[in-house]
Amino acid sequence: MSQKPPPLLQHEFAAVDEALSAQIARATATLVQATMAHRTDPSAGIRITLEGGLGAGKTTWVRSFLQALGITGRIKSPSFSVVESYEADGLQMHHFDFYRQADPAAWQGGGLRDLLSEPAIHLIEWPQRARGLTPAHIQIHINWADNIDAQAPRCLRISINDCADTINFRPHLQAWRDALLPKSGERRQLMLSLGVVLLLGVRSAPSSAAKMLAVRIWPAKDYTRITIEHDTEGLVYKTQRLENPLRFVLDIEGALLNDALRELIARVTTNDPYIKTVRVGQYQPRVIRIVFELKQDIQPQVFSLPAIAQYQNRLVLDLYPATEQDPLMSFLATYEKERAISPSVTRAPDMTDPSAPREIRQAVVNRLVTIALDAGHGGEDPGAIGKRGTYEKDIVLSIARRLKKLIDQEPNMRAYLTRDGDYFVPLHTRVQKARRVQADLFVSIHADAWVSPTARGSSVYALSEKGASSSAARWMANKENSADLIGGLNIRHKDRTVAETLLDMSTTAQIKDSLKLGQSVLKEIGGINALHKAKVEQAGFAVLRAPEIPSILVETAFISNPDEELRLKDEAYQDQMAVALTAGIRRYFLANPPLSKSKMM
Ligand SMILES: [Zn+2]
Repeated sequence: MSQKPPPLLQHEFAAVDEALSAQIARATATLVQATMAHRTDPSAGIRITLEGGLGAGKTTWVRSFLQALGITGRIKSPSFSVVESYEADGLQMHHFDFYRQADPAAWQGGGLRDLLSEPAIHLIEWPQRARGLTPAHIQIHINWADNIDAQAPRCLRISINDCADTINFRPHLQAWRDALLPKSGERRQLMLSLGVVLLLGVRSAPSSAAKMLAVRIWPAKDYTRITIEHDTEGLVYKTQRLENPLRFVLDIEGALLNDALRELIARVTTNDPYIKTVRVGQYQPRVIRIVFELKQDIQPQVFSLPAIAQYQNRLVLDLYPATEQDPLMSFLATYEKERAISPSVTRAPDMTDPSAPREIRQAVVNRLVTIALDAGHGGEDPGAIGKRGTYEKDIVLSIARRLKKLIDQEPNMRAYLTRDGDYFVPLHTRVQKARRVQADLFVSIHADAWVSPTARGSSVYALSEKGASSSAARWMANKENSADLIGGLNIRHKDRTVAETLLDMSTTAQIKDSLKLGQSVLKEIGGINALHKAKVEQAGFAVLRAPEIPSILVETAFISNPDEELRLKDEAYQDQMAVALTAGIRRYFLANPPLSKSKMM
């Protein structure tokens, strides 16, 4: 490696809000466009890398950059497709996202390598996950200043590197400086006050209306969520509650009514637990009013989410019941009801073969045990998506429901679903729910994707207190843990029970039992599908953190593998998977009889 020259320019912007981020993107787009137009070698391209945590605002920056170069219409995040390409005024632009790239060398094999050598503008997110990339001309790091919060200001560091032989930024750099860097204290003051005004919610460009792109509604007993996807950072809205009849009103300012929003009316179903009807109208020339007539009193949470993964900006309305339901009470109520319909006989404990047919099986546990079944993802978070359009969230819920049926038929066992519908449940809420029904085991069910379509087989994961057992396991945990960002967690909302305390408690004993449970389950799954790894892998999965409940995460198969996607869609395979998981749980209890509840407390 030759000695790297110092960058031509390096600058760190503190307190970067959305407006300033867009301003930096626009100035950088002008610089890149001018440099491309005057390059001496027509086969040269410009590479811009963007690093920073999930949700830090990399994709938002790229959107502003591409819009400044004349790209109109929807700019999708390439986190699922790896690359999205654009063209304007004869300029090619490729937007890469290597976040989901498990194998750092994978990009060299596909067509990505060819794309990356084109004389285009390359915007590369997560470059650290692609080994051997040519050094970037412009490097950008975006991160939170201190607290990780969707609205918190960021710190943005930019380095512009001199490559005078092919790409020469120097002649155009002064314009970039003039646009962004203060000559005196005065300009900075101006930018700060502009930022403040935007935070207060006064739109800087009143002539352009906010565009509503899509509306989704996720009705569920826990809460009903309405998501309004739109194109405007810092969308201004107001809410109010009205009585007689009970209504919840949302006003969106600086916006015009369109078909995307009108569709909301059609999407409200009669079985929504909270919404009776909805009305949408242009209340004032630039204010849209949405009125929800309610079936019962609600506790609303309204919040904005920045663009992430496949989504642009989202305004989220969560309608919770005014009085919170206790998961244990409602679980017991349904359980008792189901028992009344089909009384099960409690037989004496007997050590039987776990793979014996269910009809002749006897109880393997001598007290009532509760198994929490956690169908991954849901609602706004589809999880992985197969080539044929199969959603992980649907497959895993179907498997979880089948598994619940089987477990409920086992003497002395009952199953509890952390979600029984298509809606988003935050990861810590899943853990909390399992604890509140005093679950004896926790089984999270997934069906994941890998960059390479040939990856196949089932795997089982447990929590790790130290590091991950492999880089693939760490990647998987990072990916699963990002569910909250995609699903849409309201970070400002403080939960009544503090989930964070969970993190401080020791999980050493839990992990030991989880590994035993995982091994028992792996043995059974090995009978119906190839195993991706023969032993239980470990990493820091947020959903496996209940300190007192042995917890595993099962990747039932790879939805990204066309053959396995077909199997996952097949009801017979879903049943086989449920049978294998039940047998694995029985096998675990045979070797590790549950302690009496009094001993556990
Ligand atoms: Zn998953």
